[in-house]
Amino acid sequence: ETIGANLERTVAAYADREALVECASGRRWTWAELDRDVDAVARGLIGAGIDKGDRVGIWGPNSAEWTLVQLATAKVGAVLVNVNPSYRTHELAYVVNQSGMRMLVSATSFRTSDYRAMIEETADQSDALERVVHLDDEHSWAGLLADGSGVSDDDLRRRSASLDPHDPINIQYTSGTTGFPKGATLSHRNILNNGYLVGEACRYSEEDRVCIPVPFYHCFGMVMGNLACTSHGATMVIPAAGFDPALTLRAVSDERCTSLYGVPTMFIAEWALPDLTSYDLGSVRTGIMAGSPCPEEMMKKLIDAGIDEMTIAYGMTETSPVSTQTRTDDSLERKVGTVGRVAPHLEIKIIDPVSGDTLPRGEAGEFCTRGYSVMLGYWDDEEKTAEAVDADGWMHTGDLGVMDDEGYVRITGRIKDMVIRGGENIYPREIEEFLYTHPDVEDVQVVGVPDAKYGEELCAWLRMRPGTEPLDTAAVRAYADGRLAHYKIPRYVMVVEEFPMTVTGKVRKVEMREVSTRELG
Ligand code: ATP
Ligand code: MG
Repeated sequence: ETIGANLERTVAAYADREALVECASGRRWTWAELDRDVDAVARGLIGAGIDKGDRVGIWGPNSAEWTLVQLATAKVGAVLVNVNPSYRTHELAYVVNQSGMRMLVSATSFRTSDYRAMIEETADQSDALERVVHLDDEHSWAGLLADGSGVSDDDLRRRSASLDPHDPINIQYTSGTTGFPKGATLSHRNILNNGYLVGEACRYSEEDRVCIPVPFYHCFGMVMGNLACTSHGATMVIPAAGFDPALTLRAVSDERCTSLYGVPTMFIAEWALPDLTSYDLGSVRTGIMAGSPCPEEMMKKLIDAGIDEMTIAYGMTETSPVSTQTRTDDSLERKVGTVGRVAPHLEIKIIDPVSGDTLPRGEAGEFCTRGYSVMLGYWDDEEKTAEAVDADGWMHTGDLGVMDDEGYVRITGRIKDMVIRGGENIYPREIEEFLYTHPDVEDVQVVGVPDAKYGEELCAWLRMRPGTEPLDTAAVRAYADGRLAHYKIPRYVMVVEEFPMTVTGKVRKVEMREVSTRELG
């Protein structure tokens, strides 16, 4: 099934129920209204000359129009190119040119005011880019809709009927945590199935209302959020354009959301709000924490707050994204301490990254995924694709994992993040989990820094809770003494206000390693 055909079924089944709420503006859509507006954009795209397979970019923070454009491009078979809202000219130009983008929709409420200049400069350097639609300019958006005036319902139906679920429909650039982002090319089949199955794991129905503070430009927002909702008839609630902890919880309480999403740092920020108890979170039943290692402490807090069907998902852009997810009926220990078991219709294995052999249960190695969710490839990059997906169809994730006898997986880190100190392999994640239990520590990250004697030494970056004294190396040592093996106790401690982050809310460890190395060296 294509995304468009799936949407039609939801519209037919739940026409008068609520589909979408944009909290910042108070605008609301039923499924029938959403369908009408999606079709208007879809007709505009056809009228503007967008053919099946043409690339249409969207650049901006979360908004209702983002969702309309996502669904409209799916209906006309254009390949949506998600552009990271924090990009500047150089990166924007790279994505526009690399994807061969014909149209760019630039969304409202940018944090930067100079984005028009960035677009102009980019358009000058690009041969393919013909049209820019500015969502913050009524005429520009109305112009796109007006292009559709000559396009009939029949034209739109014919276009939709010509699409195949295996067609590419989306280029999603990875977060760029470990380097320059790579454009994963995904089909209807890839992302629609993944969104649907993620929704199954959360037991979604048309009664659910999902609060989506994670960026749409990333698969967490547009697949696990939007497509999980459209395929189950659940309501999409957009709390704000960009992430704001207070606005997120306000949306949850005002909109009676039943599900709440976030990367771990978002939940940490929400639960650190001084007025946390003033929000009514009683409607929340489930949700998803994903994207980077999920601290057990934070998961326990959510479950203690009554969100006992909270799930953890693990995945990556290249696999549409989810490969494993906890289930609402898993034991407490597994809900907080693992990323669950393999998601339906997929295979996973853990291999020795050097020999490629599958490892016995309980041994840590590289996590691999195979099945419907594996991307078509990196856009226009056969070489990188061949490095990531082997001849048998296995996606090599670059993540380290361990699987227990019942198939539950723990992600122990990224191969690139592993620290080797004096010949001992150290997984920063384990030390982060430990330091996170210190009552004064709000958040913690651990990286390796070069060391003449041991090869690498550990450096802990700490963010302290308000009103507490910064911890120094001696204090960390005292806390860890007798509880962590001596070689796992960080040699260096840095107390900071903020970690360097990607827009998806991931900590940029590469940058932290560079900074630590510079400051300590
Ligand atoms: P890039 O590939 O550009 O360096 P990225 O890998 O961060 O960036 P994404 O595709 O957004 O880009 O993120 C996927 C990665 O996020 C996974 O490979 C994994 O390292 C991490 N991840 C996702 N979910 C979890 C989770 N539940 N626990 C631990 N790590 C996770
Ligand atoms: Mg990656």
